[in-house]
Amino acid sequence: MIKNIPDLQEKLHDLLLSQKDSITQGKVAEYIPALAKINPQLMGVCVATIDGNIVGVGDYQQPFSIQSISKVFGLVMAMNRMGDSLWQRINMEPSGQAFNSIIQLEWEKGIPRNPVINAGALLISDVLASHYSSSKLAFLTFMRSLANDDNIHIDQNVYQSELSHGNRNAALAYLMKSFGNIEAEVPEVLNHYFTQCSISMNCQQLAQSLLFLANKGSDPRTNDIICSRQDSHRVNAILSTSGMYDQSGEFAFSVGLPAKSGVGGGIVAIVPNYGVICAWSPPLNNYGNSVVGMSLIKSLAHELNLSIY
Ligand code: GLU
Repeated sequence: MIKNIPDLQEKLHDLLLSQKDSITQGKVAEYIPALAKINPQLMGVCVATIDGNIVGVGDYQQPFSIQSISKVFGLVMAMNRMGDSLWQRINMEPSGQAFNSIIQLEWEKGIPRNPVINAGALLISDVLASHYSSSKLAFLTFMRSLANDDNIHIDQNVYQSELSHGNRNAALAYLMKSFGNIEAEVPEVLNHYFTQCSISMNCQQLAQSLLFLANKGSDPRTNDIICSRQDSHRVNAILSTSGMYDQSGEFAFSVGLPAKSGVGGGIVAIVPNYGVICAWSPPLNNYGNSVVGMSLIKSLAHELNLSIY
């Protein structure tokens, strides 16, 4: 662990410089057309520590589409709302399938494998849509309060693009509805899900917003309890086994941190009792993980000996 902040700044700077050639190894997500327009050269990384330090380099203050990173926050809201009954409708096992796969969901009778694949996040979106009078506003308010920034907003271009290219997500939601595992109407569930995926935030905001997961559920800046200690442990366990799509095993093997990535190119990694790393670079590998983001977090974890295992 580096306690000396100038040293950490220098380390991040060197790591970022060493990544310039890796960008070409990935491809920006194109299946959501609005995401395809991003400049692939942008990249940034930020570390927020529970004792209040923020160290960032590159484009770490440039907002990007958080996409699946939103699934972490939705899960926390649903756990807070539902308690243990949530786990009757959703599982906590790795899927070993692509994030938007539909095959397993039929075999398993509409019970998603875990909350961070698309089927699981749609189920969580149903929980939120069914339990809040305005789940989209509740979600945005939660994000704004965690990031301490009322300017956090939904990117309407991304939202519209997801809505008009969301047939696979609609298929997942209708399949779960056919098994009786979705309460609200499917368009309402999709509307919530696409909204939360379309939020724009930067690396610093994401790293700071997730500090509670590095601090046993409480926000170290305010001492507010964001979730119980047990739920913080459970979320980190799910992120360790499933947060990096079907590359989660390799990520646990080579990095050893609970993490979540999104097809916007962001990756957040939780370092328990220390802080959160957020790396961002849009080009993705075949699993949907940012090539540079993975490499940055991997190098940092090795050099600072951060693995939890
Ligand atoms: N909104 C994206 C989708 O549903 C999120 C995917 C992701 O970031 O994993 O396909």
